[in-house]
Amino acid sequence: MSINNCILKSLNIKEENVNFRENFVEERVIKSKRSLVYMGYLSNNIIKCPKCNSNNIKKNGTRKSLIKIPKVSELNSYLELEKQRYYCKDCKHTITAKTNIVDYRCRISNNTKISINNYTSKIITHKDIAWIHNVSNMTVGRVNNKV
Ligand SMILES: [Zn+2]
Repeated sequence: MSINNCILKSLNIKEENVNFRENFVEERVIKSKRSLVYMGYLSNNIIKCPKCNSNNIKKNGTRKSLIKIPKVSELNSYLELEKQRYYCKDCKHTITAKTNIVDYRCRISNNTKISINNYTSKIITHKDIAWIHNVSNMTVGRVNNKV
């Protein structure tokens, strides 16, 4: 198994288009807490515009987002995901590489949401669940209501 697949497996990420470079993880202090940041990039090649079906698209830089993932060895953990952006020359639409790790415009991974829901069925306050997952009480309520 490649190093890349080992990292994906240990983070329980089922997205084969995520790749990691050599130094893929570092410690950072985020919100005054020692945290682990995994740095990956999303490389699915978009060849057609989803809006107008044109293939007259070009790469248009990247965008980084810091996504909360479940704790790794009790440290707050994040995936810093660099997503390729594209520009459609025909309809002027901007496209960002898609992933199932996180919902559109959301910064909390779907794995974190699953974990929150596992906790909400236990006798434990939303405040405690929020603390465990490094999210707000509001987020716990929102995620819990969605399932
Ligand atoms: Zn287009």
